[in-house]
Amino acid sequence: MDVDGKGDSMEELKGLQITTLDDDDDDEEIALDEDDNEEDEDDDDDDEGEPVILGFVEKPEHSWSLLRQQFPSKAGGVPVWLDPDNLPLGTSCVCDICGEPLQFVLQVYAPLVEKESTFHRTLFVFMCLSMNCLLRDQHEQWKHHPDKRSRSVKVFRCQLPRANPYYSSEPPKGNATDKLLTPGAPLCNWCGTWKGDKFCSSCKVARYCSQKHQVMHWRSGHKLECQQLSLSPQLSECNACNGVITQIKPQKVASKSLWPEYEMKNEHESEYDTEVSGDDGHVNNSLVSRNRIEDTTKSYNFEEDGDKKCWASFQVRIAKAPEQVLRYCRSATSKPLWPMLGGRPSKADIPRCSYCGGDLCFEFQILPQLLYYFGVKNDADSLDWATIMVYTCEASCEGVGYKEEFAWVQLSTSTNFS
Ligand SMILES: [Zn+2]
Ligand SMILES: [Zn+2]
Ligand SMILES: [Zn+2]
Ligand SMILES: [Zn+2]
Repeated sequence: MDVDGKGDSMEELKGLQITTLDDDDDDEEIALDEDDNEEDEDDDDDDEGEPVILGFVEKPEHSWSLLRQQFPSKAGGVPVWLDPDNLPLGTSCVCDICGEPLQFVLQVYAPLVEKESTFHRTLFVFMCLSMNCLLRDQHEQWKHHPDKRSRSVKVFRCQLPRANPYYSSEPPKGNATDKLLTPGAPLCNWCGTWKGDKFCSSCKVARYCSQKHQVMHWRSGHKLECQQLSLSPQLSECNACNGVITQIKPQKVASKSLWPEYEMKNEHESEYDTEVSGDDGHVNNSLVSRNRIEDTTKSYNFEEDGDKKCWASFQVRIAKAPEQVLRYCRSATSKPLWPMLGGRPSKADIPRCSYCGGDLCFEFQILPQLLYYFGVKNDADSLDWATIMVYTCEASCEGVGYKEEFAWVQLSTSTNFS
Protein backbone atom coordinates (compact mmCIF):
# COMPACT_ATOMS: atom_id res chain seq x y z
CA MET A 1 0.00 0.00 0.00
CA ASP A 2 1.16 3.46 -0.79
CA VAL A 3 0.90 5.90 2.03
CA ASP A 4 2.45 9.16 0.95
CA GLY A 5 2.94 10.46 4.47
CA LYS A 6 1.26 13.80 3.76
CA GLY A 7 -2.24 12.88 4.69
CA ASP A 8 -2.45 11.28 8.09
CA SER A 9 -6.13 10.58 8.26
CA MET A 10 -7.39 7.63 10.23
CA GLU A 11 -8.57 6.17 6.95
CA GLU A 12 -5.03 5.67 5.73
CA LEU A 13 -4.04 3.70 8.75
CA LYS A 14 -7.26 1.76 8.70
CA GLY A 15 -6.60 0.96 5.06
CA LEU A 16 -3.56 -0.94 6.22
CA GLN A 17 -5.60 -3.76 7.53
CA ILE A 18 -5.58 -5.37 4.14
CA THR A 19 -3.25 -4.53 1.31
CA THR A 20 -4.17 -5.22 -2.24
CA LEU A 21 -1.87 -7.27 -4.42
CA ASP A 22 -1.37 -4.20 -6.56
CA ASP A 23 0.76 -1.82 -4.52
CA ASP A 24 0.05 1.19 -6.69
CA ASP A 25 -3.66 1.06 -6.36
CA ASP A 26 -4.57 3.53 -3.64
CA ASP A 27 -8.26 3.57 -4.37
CA GLU A 28 -8.83 -0.09 -3.87
CA GLU A 29 -7.92 -0.57 -0.27
CA ILE A 30 -9.98 -3.40 1.02
CA ALA A 31 -11.54 -3.08 4.41
CA LEU A 32 -12.29 -6.32 6.12
CA ASP A 33 -15.78 -5.30 7.07
CA GLU A 34 -16.63 -3.60 3.82
CA ASP A 35 -20.24 -3.79 2.82
CA ASP A 36 -20.36 -5.06 -0.70
CA ASN A 37 -24.05 -4.55 -1.37
CA GLU A 38 -24.25 -8.17 -2.19
CA GLU A 39 -28.03 -7.90 -2.41
CA ASP A 40 -27.63 -6.38 -5.87
CA GLU A 41 -26.08 -9.51 -7.16
CA ASP A 42 -28.20 -12.36 -8.28
CA ASP A 43 -26.63 -15.10 -6.31
CA ASP A 44 -27.37 -18.66 -7.20
CA ASP A 45 -25.84 -20.06 -4.11
CA ASP A 46 -27.63 -19.31 -0.87
CA ASP A 47 -24.55 -20.31 1.05
CA GLU A 48 -22.36 -17.64 -0.49
CA GLY A 49 -23.34 -15.21 2.25
CA GLU A 50 -20.96 -12.48 3.34
CA PRO A 51 -18.06 -11.38 1.13
CA VAL A 52 -14.90 -13.34 1.84
CA ILE A 53 -11.33 -12.08 1.72
CA LEU A 54 -8.79 -14.62 0.57
CA GLY A 55 -5.21 -14.83 1.84
CA PHE A 56 -2.32 -15.87 -0.41
CA VAL A 57 1.29 -16.42 0.56
CA GLU A 58 4.32 -15.09 -1.28
CA LYS A 59 7.95 -14.49 -0.50
CA PRO A 60 8.40 -11.16 1.34
CA GLU A 61 8.83 -8.36 -1.18
CA HIS A 62 11.32 -6.31 0.85
CA SER A 63 13.61 -6.98 3.77
CA TRP A 64 11.44 -4.68 5.87
CA SER A 65 8.04 -6.00 4.70
CA LEU A 66 7.56 -8.22 7.72
CA LEU A 67 8.94 -5.94 10.41
CA ARG A 68 6.77 -5.34 13.44
CA GLN A 69 6.15 -1.68 12.59
CA GLN A 70 4.60 -2.69 9.25
CA PHE A 71 1.82 -4.65 10.99
CA PRO A 72 2.27 -7.63 8.70
CA SER A 73 0.05 -10.59 8.00
CA LYS A 74 2.40 -13.52 7.54
CA ALA A 75 2.78 -17.28 7.62
CA GLY A 76 5.73 -19.39 8.76
CA GLY A 77 8.98 -18.25 10.33
CA VAL A 78 8.55 -16.51 13.66
CA PRO A 79 5.57 -14.51 14.89
CA VAL A 80 5.81 -10.74 14.72
CA TRP A 81 4.27 -9.92 18.07
CA LEU A 82 1.97 -6.88 18.09
CA ASP A 83 2.42 -6.16 21.80
CA PRO A 84 6.14 -6.94 22.07
CA ASP A 85 6.24 -6.98 25.87
CA ASN A 86 3.26 -8.85 27.27
CA LEU A 87 3.77 -12.12 25.42
CA PRO A 88 1.91 -15.34 26.21
CA LEU A 89 3.70 -17.26 28.95
CA GLY A 90 3.80 -20.66 30.60
CA THR A 91 1.35 -23.30 29.49
CA SER A 92 -0.06 -20.96 26.81
CA CYS A 93 3.10 -21.52 24.77
CA VAL A 94 3.17 -25.31 24.84
CA CYS A 95 1.13 -28.17 23.46
CA ASP A 96 -1.16 -29.27 26.29
CA ILE A 97 -0.79 -32.86 25.12
CA CYS A 98 2.98 -33.41 24.71
CA GLY A 99 4.38 -30.30 26.40
CA GLU A 100 6.51 -29.20 23.43
CA PRO A 101 6.58 -25.46 22.67
CA LEU A 102 4.09 -24.71 19.88
CA GLN A 103 5.20 -23.72 16.40
CA PHE A 104 4.05 -20.50 14.73
CA VAL A 105 1.62 -21.06 11.85
CA LEU A 106 0.41 -17.63 10.78
CA GLN A 107 -0.81 -14.23 11.90
CA VAL A 108 -3.52 -12.01 10.47
CA TYR A 109 -3.60 -8.26 10.97
CA ALA A 110 -7.30 -7.54 11.33
CA PRO A 111 -8.13 -4.27 13.09
CA LEU A 112 -11.76 -3.43 13.79
CA VAL A 113 -12.88 0.08 13.02
CA GLU A 114 -15.75 0.20 15.48
CA LYS A 115 -13.61 0.47 18.61
CA GLU A 116 -10.62 2.59 19.63
CA SER A 117 -9.11 -0.37 21.50
CA THR A 118 -8.96 -2.45 18.32
CA PHE A 119 -7.20 0.16 16.20
CA HIS A 120 -4.43 -2.42 15.85
CA ARG A 121 -5.48 -6.03 16.16
CA THR A 122 -3.65 -9.21 15.20
CA LEU A 123 -4.60 -12.87 15.51
CA PHE A 124 -1.87 -15.50 15.90
CA VAL A 125 -2.18 -19.24 15.25
CA PHE A 126 0.20 -21.85 16.69
CA MET A 127 0.22 -25.62 16.61
CA CYS A 128 2.14 -28.67 17.75
CA LEU A 129 4.10 -30.41 14.99
CA SER A 130 2.91 -33.83 16.09
CA MET A 131 0.05 -35.40 14.12
CA ASN A 132 -0.53 -37.68 17.11
CA CYS A 133 -1.24 -34.64 19.24
CA LEU A 134 -3.59 -33.26 16.60
CA LEU A 135 -5.47 -36.55 16.53
CA ARG A 136 -5.90 -36.35 20.28
CA ASP A 137 -6.79 -32.68 20.01
CA GLN A 138 -9.75 -33.81 17.87
CA HIS A 139 -11.42 -35.20 20.96
CA GLU A 140 -10.42 -32.29 23.16
CA GLN A 141 -12.08 -29.63 21.04
CA TRP A 142 -15.51 -31.14 21.76
CA LYS A 143 -15.11 -30.71 25.52
CA HIS A 144 -17.25 -27.91 26.80
CA HIS A 145 -15.27 -26.97 29.88
CA PRO A 146 -12.29 -24.78 28.91
CA ASP A 147 -10.11 -26.04 31.78
CA LYS A 148 -10.56 -29.62 30.61
CA ARG A 149 -9.53 -29.02 27.02
CA SER A 150 -5.94 -30.01 26.21
CA ARG A 151 -5.22 -28.37 22.90
CA SER A 152 -2.42 -28.77 20.37
CA VAL A 153 -3.69 -25.81 18.31
CA LYS A 154 -3.96 -22.37 19.91
CA VAL A 155 -5.04 -18.93 18.75
CA PHE A 156 -4.18 -15.64 20.42
CA ARG A 157 -5.70 -12.21 19.91
CA CYS A 158 -3.81 -9.00 20.66
CA GLN A 159 -5.09 -5.48 20.20
CA LEU A 160 -3.81 -1.96 20.83
CA PRO A 161 -5.33 1.52 20.64
CA ARG A 162 -3.87 4.06 18.22
CA ALA A 163 -2.04 5.75 21.07
CA ASN A 164 0.20 3.06 22.56
CA PRO A 165 3.79 2.79 23.84
CA TYR A 166 5.00 0.62 20.96
CA TYR A 167 4.15 2.30 17.68
CA SER A 168 3.87 5.75 16.21
CA SER A 169 0.28 6.94 15.97
CA GLU A 170 1.10 7.97 12.41
CA PRO A 171 0.64 5.38 9.69
CA PRO A 172 3.87 3.67 8.63
CA LYS A 173 5.24 4.91 5.33
CA GLY A 174 5.57 1.32 4.21
CA ASN A 175 9.30 1.51 3.63
CA ALA A 176 12.60 0.98 5.41
CA THR A 177 12.40 4.28 7.32
CA ASP A 178 9.59 3.22 9.65
CA LYS A 179 10.86 3.02 13.21
CA LEU A 180 9.99 1.18 16.35
CA LEU A 181 9.55 2.94 19.67
CA THR A 182 10.63 0.01 21.85
CA PRO A 183 12.77 -3.08 21.33
CA GLY A 184 10.32 -5.46 22.98
CA ALA A 185 10.97 -8.46 25.17
CA PRO A 186 13.92 -10.69 24.19
CA LEU A 187 12.87 -13.95 22.60
CA CYS A 188 14.10 -17.52 22.78
CA ASN A 189 17.36 -17.95 20.83
CA TRP A 190 16.22 -21.33 19.57
CA CYS A 191 12.65 -20.82 18.35
CA GLY A 192 12.54 -17.01 18.10
CA THR A 193 8.88 -17.41 18.94
CA TRP A 194 8.30 -17.31 22.68
CA LYS A 195 9.65 -15.05 25.38
CA GLY A 196 13.25 -15.90 26.35
CA ASP A 197 12.89 -15.54 30.07
CA LYS A 198 15.42 -18.25 30.97
CA PHE A 199 19.19 -17.82 30.56
CA CYS A 200 21.97 -20.24 29.71
CA SER A 201 23.67 -20.57 33.09
CA SER A 202 27.20 -20.61 31.59
CA CYS A 203 27.27 -17.65 29.22
CA LYS A 204 24.24 -15.85 30.65
CA VAL A 205 23.67 -14.52 27.13
CA ALA A 206 21.61 -17.12 25.34
CA ARG A 207 17.94 -16.98 26.27
CA TYR A 208 15.31 -19.67 26.07
CA CYS A 209 11.58 -20.11 26.37
CA SER A 210 11.99 -23.59 27.81
CA GLN A 211 14.51 -26.16 28.88
CA LYS A 212 13.61 -28.20 25.80
CA HIS A 213 14.85 -25.43 23.54
CA GLN A 214 17.95 -24.88 25.62
CA VAL A 215 18.85 -28.55 25.18
CA MET A 216 18.19 -28.39 21.42
CA HIS A 217 20.39 -25.30 21.08
CA TRP A 218 23.17 -26.84 23.19
CA ARG A 219 23.25 -29.97 21.04
CA SER A 220 23.13 -28.08 17.76
CA GLY A 221 26.13 -25.87 18.48
CA HIS A 222 25.62 -23.59 21.45
CA LYS A 223 28.08 -25.77 23.39
CA LEU A 224 30.94 -24.21 21.38
CA GLU A 225 29.44 -20.78 21.03
CA CYS A 226 28.81 -20.69 24.76
CA GLN A 227 32.53 -20.93 25.59
CA GLN A 228 33.36 -18.10 23.21
CA LEU A 229 30.60 -15.95 24.65
CA SER A 230 31.82 -16.63 28.19
CA LEU A 231 35.35 -15.55 27.22
CA SER A 232 34.38 -12.38 25.40
CA PRO A 233 31.07 -11.06 26.66
CA GLN A 234 31.31 -7.99 24.39
CA LEU A 235 30.33 -10.30 21.54
CA SER A 236 26.99 -10.76 23.10
CA GLU A 237 24.10 -9.28 21.27
CA CYS A 238 22.46 -6.48 23.12
CA ASN A 239 19.48 -5.11 21.33
CA ALA A 240 19.23 -1.74 23.00
CA CYS A 241 22.70 -1.29 24.52
CA ASN A 242 23.44 2.06 23.03
CA GLY A 243 19.91 3.34 23.20
CA VAL A 244 19.69 3.59 19.43
CA ILE A 245 16.53 1.70 18.90
CA THR A 246 16.59 2.21 15.14
CA GLN A 247 19.41 -0.34 15.13
CA ILE A 248 17.20 -3.19 16.31
CA LYS A 249 18.01 -6.26 14.34
CA PRO A 250 15.81 -9.28 14.19
CA GLN A 251 17.13 -11.80 16.68
CA LYS A 252 18.94 -14.79 15.29
CA VAL A 253 16.92 -17.97 15.39
CA ALA A 254 18.89 -21.19 15.69
CA SER A 255 16.10 -23.68 15.01
CA LYS A 256 16.03 -25.07 11.49
CA SER A 257 12.62 -26.62 11.86
CA LEU A 258 10.55 -23.44 11.57
CA TRP A 259 8.32 -23.33 8.53
CA PRO A 260 9.44 -21.16 5.61
CA GLU A 261 8.40 -17.55 5.99
CA TYR A 262 5.86 -15.88 3.73
CA GLU A 263 4.13 -12.56 3.52
CA MET A 264 0.36 -12.87 3.30
CA LYS A 265 -1.47 -10.82 0.67
CA ASN A 266 -5.21 -10.47 0.42
CA GLU A 267 -7.85 -10.22 -2.23
CA HIS A 268 -11.62 -10.21 -2.34
CA GLU A 269 -13.01 -13.55 -3.40
CA SER A 270 -15.43 -11.67 -5.67
CA GLU A 271 -12.43 -10.78 -7.86
CA TYR A 272 -12.44 -14.42 -8.89
CA ASP A 273 -16.14 -14.66 -9.63
CA THR A 274 -15.86 -14.26 -13.40
CA GLU A 275 -15.12 -17.91 -14.01
CA VAL A 276 -18.20 -19.31 -12.32
CA SER A 277 -21.73 -19.60 -13.58
CA GLY A 278 -23.81 -16.49 -13.97
CA ASP A 279 -27.55 -15.84 -13.92
CA ASP A 280 -28.46 -18.67 -16.23
CA GLY A 281 -28.34 -21.40 -13.67
CA HIS A 282 -25.59 -23.90 -13.07
CA VAL A 283 -23.75 -23.77 -16.33
CA ASN A 284 -20.80 -26.09 -16.21
CA ASN A 285 -18.11 -23.49 -16.73
CA SER A 286 -16.35 -23.68 -13.42
CA LEU A 287 -12.60 -24.11 -13.34
CA VAL A 288 -12.92 -27.58 -11.98
CA SER A 289 -14.43 -30.07 -14.34
CA ARG A 290 -16.73 -32.74 -13.01
CA ASN A 291 -14.10 -35.34 -13.71
CA ARG A 292 -11.57 -33.61 -11.56
CA ILE A 293 -13.97 -33.41 -8.68
CA GLU A 294 -14.66 -37.12 -9.03
CA ASP A 295 -10.94 -37.84 -9.06
CA THR A 296 -10.29 -35.88 -5.93
CA THR A 297 -13.21 -37.40 -4.18
CA LYS A 298 -12.12 -40.92 -4.98
CA SER A 299 -9.07 -40.63 -2.78
CA TYR A 300 -11.36 -40.29 0.21
CA ASN A 301 -13.50 -43.04 1.64
CA PHE A 302 -16.77 -41.24 1.86
CA GLU A 303 -19.43 -43.22 3.54
CA GLU A 304 -22.21 -40.87 2.70
CA ASP A 305 -23.31 -39.07 -0.39
CA GLY A 306 -23.70 -35.93 1.73
CA ASP A 307 -20.01 -35.78 2.47
CA LYS A 308 -19.26 -36.24 -1.19
CA LYS A 309 -21.48 -33.31 -2.11
CA CYS A 310 -20.01 -31.21 0.68
CA TRP A 311 -16.49 -31.95 -0.52
CA ALA A 312 -17.43 -31.25 -4.13
CA SER A 313 -18.94 -27.86 -3.35
CA PHE A 314 -15.95 -27.05 -1.14
CA GLN A 315 -13.67 -27.89 -4.06
CA VAL A 316 -15.67 -25.82 -6.54
CA ARG A 317 -15.56 -22.80 -4.25
CA ILE A 318 -11.83 -23.18 -3.56
CA ALA A 319 -11.14 -23.72 -7.27
CA LYS A 320 -12.02 -20.08 -7.94
CA ALA A 321 -8.59 -19.31 -6.47
CA PRO A 322 -6.84 -22.61 -5.79
CA GLU A 323 -3.78 -21.06 -4.16
CA GLN A 324 -5.70 -19.48 -1.30
CA VAL A 325 -4.45 -20.47 2.14
CA LEU A 326 -6.87 -18.41 4.20
CA ARG A 327 -10.51 -17.31 4.03
CA TYR A 328 -11.42 -14.31 6.16
CA CYS A 329 -14.97 -13.21 6.90
CA ARG A 330 -15.70 -11.74 10.31
CA SER A 331 -19.39 -11.26 10.68
CA ALA A 332 -22.11 -12.63 12.89
CA THR A 333 -23.79 -14.12 9.82
CA SER A 334 -20.75 -15.45 8.02
CA LYS A 335 -20.44 -19.16 7.52
CA PRO A 336 -17.22 -21.11 7.34
CA LEU A 337 -16.71 -23.27 4.27
CA TRP A 338 -16.65 -26.86 5.56
CA PRO A 339 -14.85 -29.52 3.51
CA MET A 340 -16.77 -32.28 5.30
CA LEU A 341 -20.16 -32.66 6.92
CA GLY A 342 -18.83 -34.81 9.71
CA GLY A 343 -16.76 -33.28 12.48
CA ARG A 344 -18.46 -29.90 12.40
CA PRO A 345 -19.31 -28.21 15.68
CA SER A 346 -22.87 -27.32 16.57
CA LYS A 347 -23.49 -23.87 17.99
CA ALA A 348 -23.30 -25.38 21.47
CA ASP A 349 -19.84 -26.76 20.76
CA ILE A 350 -18.40 -23.29 20.24
CA PRO A 351 -17.54 -22.04 23.73
CA ARG A 352 -18.15 -18.57 25.07
CA CYS A 353 -15.32 -16.07 25.41
CA SER A 354 -13.40 -17.17 28.48
CA TYR A 355 -12.63 -13.53 29.33
CA CYS A 356 -15.92 -11.64 28.90
CA GLY A 357 -18.38 -14.53 28.64
CA GLY A 358 -19.73 -13.19 25.35
CA ASP A 359 -20.30 -15.08 22.11
CA LEU A 360 -17.48 -16.12 19.84
CA CYS A 361 -17.94 -15.62 16.11
CA PHE A 362 -16.24 -17.17 13.12
CA GLU A 363 -13.41 -14.99 11.84
CA PHE A 364 -11.25 -16.98 9.45
CA GLN A 365 -10.26 -20.44 8.31
CA ILE A 366 -6.93 -21.88 7.24
CA LEU A 367 -6.79 -24.24 4.28
CA PRO A 368 -4.50 -27.26 3.84
CA GLN A 369 -2.79 -25.55 0.89
CA LEU A 370 -0.64 -23.92 3.56
CA LEU A 371 0.93 -27.30 4.33
CA TYR A 372 2.12 -27.44 0.74
CA TYR A 373 3.82 -24.04 1.04
CA PHE A 374 5.34 -25.14 4.34
CA GLY A 375 6.81 -28.19 2.61
CA VAL A 376 5.09 -30.59 4.99
CA LYS A 377 5.47 -34.10 3.62
CA ASN A 378 2.59 -36.32 2.76
CA ASP A 379 3.65 -39.26 4.94
CA ALA A 380 1.29 -41.24 7.11
CA ASP A 381 2.34 -39.45 10.29
CA SER A 382 2.81 -36.01 8.72
CA LEU A 383 0.77 -33.10 9.95
CA ASP A 384 -2.46 -32.83 7.97
CA TRP A 385 -5.86 -31.21 8.29
CA ALA A 386 -8.79 -30.31 6.06
CA THR A 387 -9.35 -26.93 7.66
CA ILE A 388 -8.73 -24.95 10.84
CA MET A 389 -11.57 -22.63 11.82
CA VAL A 390 -10.80 -19.70 14.08
CA TYR A 391 -13.52 -18.27 16.29
CA THR A 392 -12.90 -15.06 18.23
CA CYS A 393 -14.70 -12.95 20.81
CA GLU A 394 -17.47 -11.12 18.97
CA ALA A 395 -16.94 -8.03 21.15
CA SER A 396 -13.14 -8.36 20.81
CA CYS A 397 -13.02 -7.66 24.53
CA GLU A 398 -10.40 -5.45 26.12
CA GLY A 399 -7.30 -6.38 28.04
CA VAL A 400 -3.53 -6.16 27.97
CA GLY A 401 -1.47 -8.77 26.16
CA TYR A 402 -2.76 -11.87 24.42
CA LYS A 403 -6.15 -13.48 24.81
CA GLU A 404 -6.61 -17.11 23.85
CA GLU A 405 -9.35 -17.63 21.29
CA PHE A 406 -10.82 -20.85 19.92
CA ALA A 407 -9.74 -23.07 17.04
CA TRP A 408 -11.79 -25.88 15.55
CA VAL A 409 -9.85 -28.39 13.46
CA GLN A 410 -11.51 -30.60 10.88
CA LEU A 411 -9.33 -33.47 9.72
CA SER A 412 -9.68 -34.94 6.27
CA THR A 413 -11.62 -38.17 6.11
CA SER A 414 -8.61 -40.06 4.77
CA THR A 415 -6.70 -39.19 7.93
CA ASN A 416 -9.42 -40.59 10.12
CA PHE A 417 -9.42 -43.85 8.22
CA SER A 418 -5.69 -44.37 7.97
ZN1 LIG B 1 2.05 -31.95 21.05
ZN1 LIG C 1 11.96 -21.52 22.36
ZN1 LIG D 1 25.51 -20.41 26.90
ZN1 LIG E 1 -14.49 -11.58 25.09
